[in-house]
Amino acid sequence: MRIQANYSLKHHNTFQIDVKAQYFAEIEKQSDIIVLRSDLKLAALPWIIIGSASNLVFKNDLEKVVISCRYNKIKVVKEDDENIWISVGAGMEWHKLVEYTVDNNLWGLENLALIPGTVGAAPVQNIGAYGAEAQDSVTRVQTLNMFTGERTEFRNSDCQFAYRSSIFKTNFENKLLVHRVTFRLTKLKAGHANLYYEPLKEALKAYKKTELTPKIIFDTIVAIRQRKLPDPKVYGNAGSFFKNPIVSRDYFDKLSEKFGDIPYHKTIDKNYKIPAAWLIESAGWKGKKLNKHVGVSAKHALVLVNYGEAKGEDIVKLACKIQEDVDHKFGIHLEQEVIIVK
Ligand SMILES: Cc1cc2nc3c(=O)[nH]c(=O)nc-3n(C[C@H](O)[C@H](O)[C@H](O)COP(=O)(O)OP(=O)(O)OC[C@H]3O[C@@H](n4cnc5c(N)ncnc54)[C@H](O)[C@@H]3O)c2cc1C
Repeated sequence: MRIQANYSLKHHNTFQIDVKAQYFAEIEKQSDIIVLRSDLKLAALPWIIIGSASNLVFKNDLEKVVISCRYNKIKVVKEDDENIWISVGAGMEWHKLVEYTVDNNLWGLENLALIPGTVGAAPVQNIGAYGAEAQDSVTRVQTLNMFTGERTEFRNSDCQFAYRSSIFKTNFENKLLVHRVTFRLTKLKAGHANLYYEPLKEALKAYKKTELTPKIIFDTIVAIRQRKLPDPKVYGNAGSFFKNPIVSRDYFDKLSEKFGDIPYHKTIDKNYKIPAAWLIESAGWKGKKLNKHVGVSAKHALVLVNYGEAKGEDIVKLACKIQEDVDHKFGIHLEQEVIIVK
């Protein structure tokens, strides 16, 4: 375990915001929590959990204990003719895990290639992209209680997975640390490509379905993502800043009378999901800067970017302006996907 006081988090968040944590503790195991809790000055402060902080905006210095799990081992739990179950430490980089599964010819995680962050955050956020979500492959989540260190195991059906959410993000936010996650993956011959997402199917139309491998899907998605999204190592960002809003059929009809080209996707419950990127671009924000430090990416209107020395405040201010303009033009409130840490 490593603990540091008054520690800059600039290299621990993808927005690259320079804030300080009163204490930053990198832990590996259950007993580390018990040791930290026995220190009265640490126990008196609020504690928060971060992974790579790729979905967070730090607004100010944090008068808190910031906990990050570094445990990153992969263990094979069981195997049959068709599937393999692996248990993975929360501290492992998500994309490294996806690479590992693809290199071993296993189906399951390839559509989630190049999502920044850690394995521990994947079930918390129920990460999703290109027609797949973490909940499709996660079978069990092992957690440590942040007050007592007590270990609990959740089955998939206990996790309350929802769109970019789970019980770990709602009831147990900063109370339970995800320590290990078990995934069920399918062997090459027993599985097939997930081409549920139309644009992916289109990008792979040169292949027969039987020719596809996890590696081909992985390489295709990596190439698309690199083309579409700004690299947070170059310009700090946290990916999609807002969720895609869902409106009723009546409201959608009113909108489409006024904005004939409004794109949409019908949801199972017959509502209409509208791409937030389209709303933001139509409100004139794509590629626009609020000041020299922050703006909206010219590559993707859903991505807010740190062009230099942005503070958390600048990013929050920009997000509010965008919300105001979209609300004014379309009467829709954009909900943040990114979490603002105060
Ligand atoms: C360029 C870019 C592209 C992105 N694309 C996508 C995408 O396609 N799909 C998608 O779903 N997301 C995407 N994201 C968002 C982000 O990558 C995910 O939300 C990711 O899971 C966050 O992982 P993290 O380790 O950085 O978690 P953090 O941002 O550090 O934390 C996120 C939340 O999880 C909690 N948390 C983190 N680790 C643990 C743990 N071990 N135990 C308990 N709680 C924990 C935190 O308290 C916080 O509430 C993107 C982000 C960027 C920067």
